[in-house]
Amino acid sequence: MTKVSRCYQCDETATTVEHVPAKCFFPKGQRDNLITVPSCRQHNNDTSMDDEYVRGIVSSANGTNKTAVDQWRGPVRQSFMHSPKLFLKTFETRKDNAFFHDRDRVDHLMIKIAYGLYFHAFKKRWASIPAPFYKQFYDEDGITDFESRLPGYRDAGYHTVLAGANPSVFKYSFSEADFNGEPNVSLKLIFYEGFEVLIMPVKTSEVRPVLVFK
Ligand SMILES: [Zn+2]
Repeated sequence: MTKVSRCYQCDETATTVEHVPAKCFFPKGQRDNLITVPSCRQHNNDTSMDDEYVRGIVSSANGTNKTAVDQWRGPVRQSFMHSPKLFLKTFETRKDNAFFHDRDRVDHLMIKIAYGLYFHAFKKRWASIPAPFYKQFYDEDGITDFESRLPGYRDAGYHTVLAGANPSVFKYSFSEADFNGEPNVSLKLIFYEGFEVLIMPVKTSEVRPVLVFK
């Protein structure tokens, strides 16, 4: 008898595999041991435009490394030339030196990556709803997403050891902690050594939950 493998996000039978993060984040020559998870058809729907949208934002973020610059000059530019609409969507609205992005679209992709990495690390589906928080995103008042939605949060040495076979592209770390009185994990993602996303498990699917630390 063969064991049926289940989807990383639901109880459906897996019929395909999904890369987390998507392959397009990784330049050629830095694609060692990319992480894949089993996926049903629904959760492996084609998100390549979302992947490219987010890659454009992440690789142009402040504080990222040379790999990000190379991505920006190479494949990101190519995909914008191929789809000027994608470029406009990414950088159409500007305020001073900042751009407004489609937060839900970025969130959606980070949540997918979070589910995928959890499944990869723990061999089971994450029974929480992962909520992303961004170090490099600011609200209109110039307050960072961390400051406005994670008041009081200090990264007190969690997430010091990061995994990832291509660390200049992507690395991550799980850290065990209590959330809402139950043991769970938080997750840190770092793209191109500079774009940081902290993922916290939440109980309800509010789009933008604020976690208050006491
Ligand atoms: Zn599924």
